[in-house]
Amino acid sequence: MQSQQINKEPSTIDVNDSLLDVKGLKTYFYMRHGKTAKAVDDVSFSINKGETVALVGESGSGKSITSLSIMRLIQSPPGKIVEGSIKLEGKELLALSENEMSKVRGNEIGMIFQEPMTSLDPVFTIGSQIVESLMKHKMMKKKEAYKQAIELLKIVGFARAEKIVKEFPHQLSGGMRQRVMIAIALSCNPKLLIADEPTTALDVTIQAQILNLMVDMKERFGSSVLLITHDLGVVAEVANRVLVMYGGQIVEEAPVKDLFMDAKHPYTEALLESIPNIDEDVERLESIPGTVPPAHNFPQGCRFADRCKYVMDICREENPKLIEHNSNRKVRCFLYKEEGGFLSGG
Ligand code: SF4
Repeated sequence: MQSQQINKEPSTIDVNDSLLDVKGLKTYFYMRHGKTAKAVDDVSFSINKGETVALVGESGSGKSITSLSIMRLIQSPPGKIVEGSIKLEGKELLALSENEMSKVRGNEIGMIFQEPMTSLDPVFTIGSQIVESLMKHKMMKKKEAYKQAIELLKIVGFARAEKIVKEFPHQLSGGMRQRVMIAIALSCNPKLLIADEPTTALDVTIQAQILNLMVDMKERFGSSVLLITHDLGVVAEVANRVLVMYGGQIVEEAPVKDLFMDAKHPYTEALLESIPNIDEDVERLESIPGTVPPAHNFPQGCRFADRCKYVMDICREENPKLIEHNSNRKVRCFLYKEEGGFLSGG
């Protein structure tokens, strides 16, 4: 299938030491009219130490619910993790008490969200919010934490860090607030950084700065990253490996280069056709017809069938399994057979 230009090749690293293992995760939402929304429906994947894994898909595909499940931030009711396992360095997060889990959040897992205004408290200065995080998670004394807050702000690119600590969130631009969130997320040197659409609310030039900062910080602090995004352009910049999600399930998994050079799943192919390529005429851009099916009403059979240009009879009857297609690739589609086989089409 179609190849795309990759702007910058992410650093290759020796990644065979597992940090996060998600297995058979099912997160359902029980709705008032008696229906069940299977927002995450049997999702399994791993993230290795030092690796950046991108979870990609349109909104409604289940990627944010997957990240909220990992952090155990699913509002219950109506949501519930009904099955599965989430292990961080072998520790089962689903077995922890809320108190134990709150220590994992911020200490071992750092988070960056799309809109920092919702995570930053508008009534406290930037400095006091970083200080609070350092005192809580790193057991630092206030004076030491204040010095460290200034240091962190310098690391994330604030030349006037001594001034920024005294300012309130509303005095900063969106890009500056996102830098502050990165400083807070990294203040505890987390093993895993979860970034959910970290650049979506920012304009294009600031997006590039924030992505570069994330790459620099990842290398400096040695964290692994789970990047949630709908934007495959962002993925090409920073990820080592990509998981493509659709209808609450992973439909393709591949190293970033392989995915961009030779997408297997028709959904991935369609996503790649919908991103701008500087070598091609913009008018040739295709958007994917139709919408993601709602999680309370998935069709029988393949969940992408209504939008797929390769749809076959069997696709309307059975939901394909995620199969190992090559040693480092997985795909959920009847066009492919296990271990490199191929039936027809794309
Ligand atoms: Fe398309 Fe069928 Fe593959 Fe689904 S299983 S993506 S409908 S070809």
